Amino acid sequence: RSQRTQGMGTTIFARMSQLAVETESVNLGQGFPDTDGPAYIIDAAIDAMHGGRNQYAPGPGAPDLRHAIARHQRRFYDIDLDPDTEIAVSAGATEAIAAAVLGLIDPGDEVLVLEPYYDSYVAVMRMADAVRKPITLRPPDFRLDVDRLRASVTPRTTAMLINSPHNPTGMVLNAEERAAIAEVAVEHDLVVITDEVYEHLTYDGSTHVPLATLPGMAERTLTISSGGKTFSLTGWKIGWATGPAALVQAMLSAKQFMTYTSGAPLQPAIAVALDSPDSYYTELSRRMQDQRDRLCDGLASAGLHTYVPAGGYFVTTDITSVGFDDGIEFCLGLPERAGVVAVPYQVFYDDPGDARTLVRWAFSKRPAVLDEGIARLRKAF
Ligand code: PMP
Ligand code: GLN
Repeated sequence: RSQRTQGMGTTIFARMSQLAVETESVNLGQGFPDTDGPAYIIDAAIDAMHGGRNQYAPGPGAPDLRHAIARHQRRFYDIDLDPDTEIAVSAGATEAIAAAVLGLIDPGDEVLVLEPYYDSYVAVMRMADAVRKPITLRPPDFRLDVDRLRASVTPRTTAMLINSPHNPTGMVLNAEERAAIAEVAVEHDLVVITDEVYEHLTYDGSTHVPLATLPGMAERTLTISSGGKTFSLTGWKIGWATGPAALVQAMLSAKQFMTYTSGAPLQPAIAVALDSPDSYYTELSRRMQDQRDRLCDGLASAGLHTYVPAGGYFVTTDITSVGFDDGIEFCLGLPERAGVVAVPYQVFYDDPGDARTLVRWAFSKRPAVLDEGIARLRKAF
């Protein structure tokens, strides 16, 4: 086992989903929807398979998908991109993040990262020998500490890795926070890698504003997203990175030797998906907001102290309200106690501190499944 993979263990999401299957629990752990995306998108993939799209796609991605990504960025954010040089398709956002870190960050470079971290960030930064500098989001509102962000920059800082809407907290950056990030990035000439996979999942009228749209940011920001969450097709693993040609090409230089290319017939289908009417996108966030409310109310009724998220797939609770003080212990015992699986926050921190008592629950599940999970929890606590 190489030094760089020592201590990595198995990703918490796989572990918790396996636990859910083994114990026949309601899986509110791993973030994936339990209903598939629209039939017209799946039909487009079938058509592409029968239509001869089964050999390697071009390395940067199928041209029809790159053009659709450009249309999407223009339609929602007024961002203009050259599909030939400023867009690259990847094997999910996960590969784009890994290739961006490997392609843009040198060993020893310091990277400012929001903590709690999405788990692949830590692993890939370790593989790249990058040094992570956590900017910790804390309850109750998980806001970005702008002063902390400014104070964390050193002469060795070369980049930031930002995620909004944020996994696991559900925080959506507000205007002041976005401005502070842009200010720090411009002042210190940092590259910004931004993970926006939950871009269409914001609630209560809060909207997602890409960091690339702020003054001085277009030329330094690599924006990453994927079709998984937006179209409820997480297993397809079609992601993308957009931004200035130099950043996209740096990311591609790593990506070409990771997978080279993947998902050829799925790429044109995601192109069809991105061209969905506005009503598709608004209906998605409305439905997810209903599911969020359903789970938040249910968890609260089971006695769990709940933090209501503004975006993403997850609700956070504090388990001290039901008499527990360790999230890992709580989550490992939960299948037996209640027949439900959730994810402990501790695993997303270097030093969990107060987050030891926080637990994450996915609401990307059918209402009946959420109700069953809630009923089990109400009985158990
Ligand atoms: N970033 C975040 C914040 C995520 O939550 C996820 C997965 N849900 C990913 C990246 C990975 O996306 P993909 O499945 O497209 O690789
Ligand atoms: N992003 C999803 C989550 O946070 C899972 C993705 C994965 O399993 N890698 O649960």
